[in-house]
Amino acid sequence: MDHKLEQDLKTLALFICTYCRHRHGDVGVSRVAFKTHDVERITGRRVMLCPACTKLLSHAFVKRANCPIEPKPACKHCPEHCYHPSYREKIREVMKYSGRRLVLSGRLDYLFHLLF
Ligand SMILES: [Zn+2]
Repeated sequence: MDHKLEQDLKTLALFICTYCRHRHGDVGVSRVAFKTHDVERITGRRVMLCPACTKLLSHAFVKRANCPIEPKPACKHCPEHCYHPSYREKIREVMKYSGRRLVLSGRLDYLFHLLF
C-alpha cells in the first residue's frame, strides 16, 4: 500500500475516532476490524467505534483506497464526489468536529508549554 494512501487512511480513522469518542461514547463501541485493511497496523493503535461510525469508516476506506484521481486532490475540492450522499454529510460533520478539537488541543499544548 502506498504511503500517501496509508497516511490518509490513518487520518480518516483518527478523525472518526475522535468524533465517535466524544459524540457516541455511550452508545456501545466495539473493536474495528476490516477484511480489506489492517486498521490497527495503519493507525498504530486499537480502534474502537460505534456501529454507525464503523460503517462510515469502512465506506471512507473503500472510497479512498479506490480513488481513481492521481494525484488526489483534497476531497472537498474533488470534482468527483464519490461518497454516498448520507456518508458525505456525515464525514463532513466528522471533519469539522474533530478538526476543531485537534486545533483546540494543539492550542492547549501550546498553553501548557508556556505555563510550565
Ligand atoms: Zn460513533
